[in-house]
Amino acid sequence: MNVYTQAAVEIAILFVVTYSLLKLMRGTRGEGLLRGLATVVFLGLVALALVAKVIDLPRISALLQQFLPVSVIGVLIIFQPEIRWGLIRLGQTPFLKRFLRSESRVIEEIVKATRRMSEAKIGGLIALEQAVGIESYIEKGEPIDAEVNASLIETIFYPGSLLHDGALIIRNGRIVAAGCLFPLTDNPELSRRFGTRHRAGIGVTEESDAIAVIVSEETGAISVAHRGRLLPDVGPMGLERFLRENLATGEAKPEAPVVGREAGAGK
Ligand code: ATP
Ligand code: MG
Repeated sequence: MNVYTQAAVEIAILFVVTYSLLKLMRGTRGEGLLRGLATVVFLGLVALALVAKVIDLPRISALLQQFLPVSVIGVLIIFQPEIRWGLIRLGQTPFLKRFLRSESRVIEEIVKATRRMSEAKIGGLIALEQAVGIESYIEKGEPIDAEVNASLIETIFYPGSLLHDGALIIRNGRIVAAGCLFPLTDNPELSRRFGTRHRAGIGVTEESDAIAVIVSEETGAISVAHRGRLLPDVGPMGLERFLRENLATGEAKPEAPVVGREAGAGK
């Protein structure tokens, strides 16, 4: 065994032993005891290491050099819940949030809204503009300027809301319009069971690189259309995966032509 596999095996053994011990003691008083003990031992070792450095105790230093790395791993394992919590909190600070991009939040809100709409059988059509502008449809709808928020999307599509008819459009991570009308696809291969909502969703993706998310009022199915093709009934998880893979990140959009209403445009 070379020194690396040796280290790997040792760390693995240490991990399994400490982890199973913690698992056994989870929630018992023993766990608190172990944590307290680990803290005291670890701080003691660190203090001793400092002392040994300052007043030159070579044998103790050598001994500690063996122990310290191991105890660091032990502490990492024992305090893993706290560390994880701390990292999560760190990721939520406004400063870091900006780096973690808002893209992912937009996707989460869309998925959350469509999941609930699907469960409640509330129909809806959401188009996400990408590189090719769909300005002409935005202009003809009702202008909105709002952050993408699940409750707002649901409210818009709630039957009886003044804006529930037609499509909602998202551009650069903001809701920019609702009640928009898209051209219906005239693709003859599309099953007859898809009505105007689905045909409009596909229609807008034939004229641009937009992604359309469709929730069926009749069945509650969540479908997604892109580049003239419909992926029927992908479910919330499938939608999330599709958006993560196909939604270009907001930055550095190339200047692209604005496409307007041009007759049918099959495939
Ligand atoms: P569902 O499964 O929800 O019933 P569907 O594909 O069967 O959908 P319809 O039942 O015809 O479609 O859905 C009608 C709704 O689709 C309308 O109330 C309207 O909100 C929307 N819709 C119809 N035409 C358009 C269009 N051109 N652009 C955008 N939305 C449209
Ligand atoms: Mg219908």
